Amino acid sequence: MKILAKLAFAAAALVAGSAAAQTYPAKPITMIVPFAAGGPTDVVARIVTEHMSRTLGQQIVIENVGGAGGTTGTTRASQAGNDGYTIMMGHMGTHGAAPALYPNLKYDPSKDFEPVGLAAGTPILIVAKKAFPAQDLKGFVDYLKANGDKVNQAHAGVGSVSHSTGILLTSQVGTKTTQVPYTGTGPALNDLVSGQVDFMTDQIVNVAEQIRAGTIRAYAIATPSRSPALPDVPTTKEAGLPQYEVSAWNAIFAPKGTPAEVVTKLNDALVKALADEGTRKRLLDLGAVLPEKNEQTSAWLGDFVAKEVARWTPVLKAAK
Ligand code: ASP
Repeated sequence: MKILAKLAFAAAALVAGSAAAQTYPAKPITMIVPFAAGGPTDVVARIVTEHMSRTLGQQIVIENVGGAGGTTGTTRASQAGNDGYTIMMGHMGTHGAAPALYPNLKYDPSKDFEPVGLAAGTPILIVAKKAFPAQDLKGFVDYLKANGDKVNQAHAGVGSVSHSTGILLTSQVGTKTTQVPYTGTGPALNDLVSGQVDFMTDQIVNVAEQIRAGTIRAYAIATPSRSPALPDVPTTKEAGLPQYEVSAWNAIFAPKGTPAEVVTKLNDALVKALADEGTRKRLLDLGAVLPEKNEQTSAWLGDFVAKEVARWTPVLKAAK
């Protein structure tokens, strides 16, 4: 009897669970952005969720939970309820680089999340304050070699994109800088514009507008070809540092165990956002690289995360 009652209870719970998944979403969804407002991950999140909210018929509300290079907000997302009402925008740092830099990381990027889908590729640029005393990338590298420890390098905390791509750069140049951590590169960019810090390596969607406005210097973009959004900025290859090629990405994740129907609905809303002309234009104007059709599935993102962790772990251990 006891077993039968338990089975009946489990069956009822399953039916209730899938009924909830069918009516999902019945209330607003929270998306954790593990960095400060106004930075690259926040910008990508706000652009794609605006359209996703329309498709889903419920608002996706962004909650910025900065700290520890994005791992604070990501840990919180991994431990949130898996009913689809808490999701997150992760990225190459939180779901690629962080495991190499945090021996006691409280989440596993592959095991503790259901991948929803890739939102945007974000090329990396080497940017400096306007008054930085170097005219081009070669001059910048020479300056770093001679004055490394006197140069203030901004980043979004250990394990973030700006931190990991930053240590990759300084290790290739063979120098050490003074590190200035922020809760996101949004606030770091403000200090770069006002000249409080000297330089950073950051995602294009954060810096494109300031580069076009001429309020900061862009020495190079670390992709094989130039960005249509910043046609005047040379590639690292053109500017004399061909070994520094690196790109980042931002993607949506749900906590492990989020029902498959819910993940499918979220992915479908993301795919629709990425097909929408207005949404595409906003992302492209900021220099984002839009995922190809085959890169927009949950399964593709799951494979990609495993590859990214495998790619970054040896690179960052060597760079440190
Ligand atoms: N993506 C972070 C932000 O939104 C920056 C980083 O990872 O470097 O601020």
